[in-house]
Amino acid sequence: MDPDYRLYSIQPTPYGGRGVYARTDISAGTCILRCPGPYAYVIARKFRKEVCAWCFSYAFEHGKRVWSWKYESTDSISLRDDQECIGKTVSPVHNSKQNKGNGANTAANLAGTWFCTAECRTRWCLEMDFGRLHASLLGMLEKLHITASDKKRGSADIPVTAADAIAIEGGYTFPLLKTLQPYWIHSKDALLSASHLKNPSTLSAGREEQITSCHQTLSSCQRQLDIVWSHAELVYARGYYRNAAPGEPRKEEPLSEFELDTARFAISALVQFFWEGSAAAHSNRGLDQNGSVMTWTDMLELQNNEVETALRKPEILATQVRVYGFVRSVVETALRTPGVMPAGAYDWGKLRAWVDKSDYVRAILGRDHGNVFGIWDMATEGDSEMLGWGMYIQGSYFNHDCAPNVKKRRVGRALEFYAMRNIATGEELCTTYVDVDEPASQRCAELREQWYFNCVCVRCRRELEVPIDEGTIDSGYVSSVDN
Ligand SMILES: [Zn+2]
Ligand SMILES: [Zn+2]
Repeated sequence: MDPDYRLYSIQPTPYGGRGVYARTDISAGTCILRCPGPYAYVIARKFRKEVCAWCFSYAFEHGKRVWSWKYESTDSISLRDDQECIGKTVSPVHNSKQNKGNGANTAANLAGTWFCTAECRTRWCLEMDFGRLHASLLGMLEKLHITASDKKRGSADIPVTAADAIAIEGGYTFPLLKTLQPYWIHSKDALLSASHLKNPSTLSAGREEQITSCHQTLSSCQRQLDIVWSHAELVYARGYYRNAAPGEPRKEEPLSEFELDTARFAISALVQFFWEGSAAAHSNRGLDQNGSVMTWTDMLELQNNEVETALRKPEILATQVRVYGFVRSVVETALRTPGVMPAGAYDWGKLRAWVDKSDYVRAILGRDHGNVFGIWDMATEGDSEMLGWGMYIQGSYFNHDCAPNVKKRRVGRALEFYAMRNIATGEELCTTYVDVDEPASQRCAELREQWYFNCVCVRCRRELEVPIDEGTIDSGYVSSVDN
């Protein structure tokens, strides 16, 4: 069935925030929304050779260990000769050997993007690379990371996750946050209050006072966050990563794998934003079924979960600040190194200004948490693996329900949303954020932990308030869409 964007509208919900509502009766199996590709995304670095950076196909599922088409820096691929690029066949560069070349080639060739076919590579170059911008920045990130790791302890032994990194250092890995601790209040009360705000119906007596005190707590957190970030801008002033003199202790730990992935995600968003400002923008981008292309402004419309994330998971704030500092160094170093950035009359000053201030990276990372979709492998049995993550802006408008009526399905780099059953006009369209086969207590705990709200869906209320036989409760959320 053809997708039809007129099937729903975005409206305020009775329980706060916005939701997606059926404008008409929708029959089971209808495609409600198709997002052709993510606004920003990252293939996890550890899967970069195994997952096509364009179509997300996983080499393992095609009987291969890795893909063989590697990004190749060629100055002929630029906005000005898109058409020439389409017709051009570029010989595959096998990943066993890096091309030796000048600084520009080396930086771009380190980009860490692999493709399943030459065609996927061409599409990526045309739609994601903006001349050579994306690859150049990803390549520079890799170079700076290698340098930082080498200086620290050789290229091995880099902490694998942010959690590992924190464990290794017995606290914050990172001196900046230590200097900030006096500013930072980590209050359990504030956590509870913040989650209650999302569900005013769960507030008991003295509701008005509670709401007022929640708002005060949150705005005080917001002020503290603003201090953290303006401090970060000062600390990461130009040259942070390269100024350590010989013998002087390094200022910064190398980023963990998770932080590098987050930095790559942030870079993909900045490149998108830069692209939007160009006259050639949108000329060859995939359109959604609404005929529109999502923009930075649309991204800013997503719920910003910065405060809740910082309160509940201060280590994520540490990660975000480090990622900002690193992305800033990547951009500054790329701009400073001759031949790295694409030739042409691009306004690099704009890009530079975006990283001098923390606002832009902060805006992306504040919405990363709670708004992105994992890019999972297509394993039909056993545990599937998360190969990366992407921000599909319109897909984020669906609220959660433990008995969802909408199911999502990834088709290559596209994400499609289908009606799981017949839906009546005016019903809210919901997906599930968690595994609906888990018991209610576990679902609710996960939703509180990861999405910062207390689930008060019909199914949860029924299951938590009135104990019923497990066998009788599943009819409400059985999929009518075969996956
Ligand atoms: Zn591909
Ligand atoms: Zn629920």
